[in-house]
Amino acid sequence: MYNTYLDYAATTPVDDEVLEVMLPYFNQKFGNPSSVHRHGQQAEGAVESARESIASLLECEPVEIIFTSGGSESDNLAIRGTALARRSRMNANRVLITPVEHEAVGRTARQLQDLYGFKLEYIPVDNFGVVKLPDFKKMLAGDVAIVSAIYGNNEIGTINPINEIGQICSEMGIPFHTDAVQAMGYVEIKAKGHFDLLSAGAHKFYGPKGVGLLYKNRNLKIFPTQTGGAQEMGLRAGTHNVPYIIGIAAALVKTRRDFEKLQSQYAAHRDRIITGIINRIEGATLTGHPISRLNNHASFVINGIDGNQLVMALDIAGYSCSSGSACKTGNPEPSEVLLALGIAPDNAKGSLRVTVGRDTTDEQITKFLEDIPEIISRLKAQ
Ligand SMILES: *Cc1c(COP(=O)(O)O)cnc(C)c1O
Repeated sequence: MYNTYLDYAATTPVDDEVLEVMLPYFNQKFGNPSSVHRHGQQAEGAVESARESIASLLECEPVEIIFTSGGSESDNLAIRGTALARRSRMNANRVLITPVEHEAVGRTARQLQDLYGFKLEYIPVDNFGVVKLPDFKKMLAGDVAIVSAIYGNNEIGTINPINEIGQICSEMGIPFHTDAVQAMGYVEIKAKGHFDLLSAGAHKFYGPKGVGLLYKNRNLKIFPTQTGGAQEMGLRAGTHNVPYIIGIAAALVKTRRDFEKLQSQYAAHRDRIITGIINRIEGATLTGHPISRLNNHASFVINGIDGNQLVMALDIAGYSCSSGSACKTGNPEPSEVLLALGIAPDNAKGSLRVTVGRDTTDEQITKFLEDIPEIISRLKAQ
């Protein structure tokens, strides 16, 4: 059946060129990078040149890039690894995050509170999900172990003022982590001076699932969260997933090809979707920031409908979208991210996320905007 994929924030397909450079590392160049012999050296060489090409894009040093199994693991290592190290070295006990984080950050911070005795505090955000800088500044006195603020929001698309937040933290000597899993590939990201830790995951930018990276400022000491062998500067034990590491580097390099052209294509599609939905659907409002938002990301709440039902109805009509909330079918809880923006629980249940990608066409969007009003009226009539 004809189907239009409009859920690129959930995942992207692996780019053909990326797949091609990965393949030899499964069966031909299969060595373990930790082995001394030539097979090992060949694999190690490939891993290190992947690390170098990522470092040169992020303008950092190769030793500052740690390969992980994905965005979630990078978030875990950054937050738990920093919190535990800072408590052991200087008794720092407070963990500061925003209320609009991905659960990989939110639940990690909550576990630090519930099981490890850290004090979890939420940084105030405005109705768009942007950190309120003056309020944030006031929270920083005292024993802060780590600050974490999402770069580009997966649910509402908002881009935070990461450089300003990082500047404030660095003046106070407090480690700052940002979850850039959704932002990587859509924002030009440079490490130096802006943050101490940054998470990214390849499958959000046309690389394979199950591989990610953590940028870590080389002067920041953290503890490993997965112990064992000495791989990844002793911070992430386990035999390197060589083909996937080749894949994340190739995918990241490719995000810079035709960067401006692609970003304006995404933004044009996004803006047609935003205007189209707001104009055609009664009771629809944009969630997240109207201007400071990811180029490929449109998100809404629609009064009087259930987001999960809408996503299922859209699927039957041939469109893969998301409700943008963590709720699964049968779980009627509204998203905590939307509640944190001050959206009423009943309205928050009617969330819709439409995210575009490289293969999205003008025709697909025209058809989507033609079809959606009737799908929504049918749902409302039920
Ligand atoms: C997808 C995503 C994650 C999780 O990344 P995985 O690689 O799927 O583990 C974390 N944070 C944000 C903002 C995301 O969009």
